[in-house]
Amino acid sequence: MQPARRIVPGLVDVPDAVDVVVVGLGITGAGVALDAVTRGLTVLAVDAHDLAFGTSRWSSKLVHGGLRYLAQGQLAIAHESAVERGILMEVTAPHLVHPLPMLTPVNDAMPRSRAAFTWGGLRAGDALRRSAHTSSRTLPRPRRLNATETLGLAPALRPDTLRGGLLAWDGQLEDDARLVVTVARTAASYGAHVRTRARVTSATGTAVTVRDELTGATYDIRAEAVVNATGVWAGGLDEQVRLRPSRGTHLVLRASALPHTRVAVMVPIPGTSARFALVLPQPDGTIYVGLTDEPVTGPVPDVPNPSEAEVDFLLGVVSSAFTTPPMRSDVVGAFAGLRPLLEVEGTDATTDLSRRHAILTSPTGVTTVVGGKLTTYRRMAQDALDALASEGRLDAAPCRTATLPLLGAAAPEDLRRSTAPARLVRRFGTDADLVLVSARDVTGLGDDELLAPVSGVVPVTLAELVFAITHEGAHDVADLLDRRTRVGLVAADRAAAEPLARRALELVGTAAGTG
Ligand SMILES: Cc1cc2nc3c(=O)[nH]c(=O)nc-3n(C[C@H](O)[C@H](O)[C@H](O)COP(=O)(O)OP(=O)(O)OC[C@H]3O[C@@H](n4cnc5c(N)ncnc54)[C@H](O)[C@@H]3O)c2cc1C
Repeated sequence: MQPARRIVPGLVDVPDAVDVVVVGLGITGAGVALDAVTRGLTVLAVDAHDLAFGTSRWSSKLVHGGLRYLAQGQLAIAHESAVERGILMEVTAPHLVHPLPMLTPVNDAMPRSRAAFTWGGLRAGDALRRSAHTSSRTLPRPRRLNATETLGLAPALRPDTLRGGLLAWDGQLEDDARLVVTVARTAASYGAHVRTRARVTSATGTAVTVRDELTGATYDIRAEAVVNATGVWAGGLDEQVRLRPSRGTHLVLRASALPHTRVAVMVPIPGTSARFALVLPQPDGTIYVGLTDEPVTGPVPDVPNPSEAEVDFLLGVVSSAFTTPPMRSDVVGAFAGLRPLLEVEGTDATTDLSRRHAILTSPTGVTTVVGGKLTTYRRMAQDALDALASEGRLDAAPCRTATLPLLGAAAPEDLRRSTAPARLVRRFGTDADLVLVSARDVTGLGDDELLAPVSGVVPVTLAELVFAITHEGAHDVADLLDRRTRVGLVAADRAAAEPLARRALELVGTAAGTG
């Protein structure tokens, strides 16, 4: 069987035996598929729904340096995060992760002791950056600012009580789901079979039964190893895996709600010593405000919902910092995700649960990789494959992913010279031309139509929607609007973009254009 080069919905023509089956195509499964295929293994990677259907699309979209873990004394995981952040920003995905200035306003409400503690933390974070060999050109050193400089960066802050600010830098993703899609597409480009709408209904260490959710047909597939990368659903394939999910909620505002806020603002949460609410400007003209940490019990929903109390809490915390605080009416969207945290004996608060990942083997031989975060996906995949190789279950070459650029990767200065449309360059890097050329080929339309944004506030174009169907496995309106693009985060924008998504599906000749 020829290796597949594109992501495809359903299981038609799937191989009946491979070296590795990967279950789940969030960032963890996509990373495992890429790691395995680039070690010379044959790979089938499947998701019951779509790429990035689960937690991976509900994150804060930050590529963390691990400062928070440092504060908790978890030095190893902090260092690992900083190393992985550097790899993403300088080698594998500089087109999808850019430096984000993060400003902590220091005002009269902030005790001097907390300001000193925060500054100490930022300096420790910079030491982490240096220990990870990430250049200060990629992530500049932290700085203390006076009140005028602080207001220059975030003019919407309340000036009357402001004493100054602390400025530090971290990584920000263009879009978390886009990272997942890019990793998955890179895996497919090396020959991995990447299939959506394919649910694993049972698994052992050497076989899976997979149901094609489009046709209902089931397939039995043999493998040398089966990797369970199903995040908060991991217990469904290995009942030994015990998770304590915690919900994190973000609000979505239009950029006009906090005018000229081009830096992230960290607003201290009253009554805590090191927790902040984050105001995060996004590349698409929205601002996210996050983030809560609420323990969740009971069945895991497909799509978690923010609670009213979380919305009120977040608005309440950030309102103290701004002259014209965002109101309930400024909230144009809200989303929640479940962290796949491993249960730890004797720990109650989910904020204290370790964010470290774990590789576990079930009695039937299924290898589960769970925990961790977007930032560390590459290392999680490496550890999972190294474990399988060292057990003698896979004859795998050494890991290559630390030096393997994802599709479209290029240095920011090279991308700035690109003549392709800016939005496509931001989301596809050097593949921006491929997106446009293939959309022209498939549709026969001119650039005026292919590159016209849906509206002044919805920058999505027909070109990227067509490419999502032809190259990224998008099958319906929801795939296009909620995962290949993120216009679905604002219901009104989603409604405005739906006709264009339907048109893309018609143009490519896909009949199943239902959301
Ligand atoms: C609110 C929030 C904010 C976060 N912010 C950040 C951040 O800023 N930076 C960061 O680095 N990390 C962040 N994280 C952590 C990070 O998002 C997660 O650790 C990561 O996305 C988990 O990815 P995953 O692939 O393991 O799981 P998921 O993304 O949930 O993927 C699991 C996949 O498995 C599929 N699946 C389930 N069952 C089956 C089956 N039987 N057959 C086939 N497929 C199946 C699902 O459809 C799903 O697509 C955040 C997490 C949360 C909740």
